Amino acid sequence: MKDKLGNNIPRRINGKTNPEYTKLHNKKYYETHKKYFYEYLKHWQETHKEKTHKYNKKCRKKHKKQYNEYTKEYMKKDRIDNKEKHDIYDEEYKQRLKLMRVKILTLFGNKCSNPYNIDHSGFEKDIDYISCLQIDHKNGNGNKQRKEFNGANNFRWLNYILTHLLEFQLLCANCNWLKRKKNGEYIHK
Ligand SMILES: [Zn+2]
Repeated sequence: MKDKLGNNIPRRINGKTNPEYTKLHNKKYYETHKKYFYEYLKHWQETHKEKTHKYNKKCRKKHKKQYNEYTKEYMKKDRIDNKEKHDIYDEEYKQRLKLMRVKILTLFGNKCSNPYNIDHSGFEKDIDYISCLQIDHKNGNGNKQRKEFNGANNFRWLNYILTHLLEFQLLCANCNWLKRKKNGEYIHK
């Protein structure tokens, strides 16, 4: 016999509540009152921000892989859906990186440290001289390190340089190339 929810499951068995019935009943109730559940949850999260934050953090940690995959997919989609917003953000990011590079170069005096005493006077005056300057890792393991930082063009790497200035020096492209040749450092193949 069907109950008022249209289920074919008996409400009671041998005078006891049927757990299967309760389960289905709750599920149906949730489906028809979803809106209220969400509203309540939203309200609870807004009034318990700290607890929500803690819970979310824990959940993210536990489901890191799924979370990262979801974020990746979401960002991919969002890049297409909100292209203009992302273009502006990318441009701002680039500008901020540029400023940080300028800051580091200024700290090094905007000048090649000229380790081989080569005459730089010819091109030092050139307006594009600054763009020939490269931040060099003195010990020569910059490439390996950069890989750990996912490339050279990000804030983590630039921050590392800023906090470890003594490990680095400024070289022009010529001196950097010379140094690589002389020391047999990593050369792009
Ligand atoms: Zn130089």
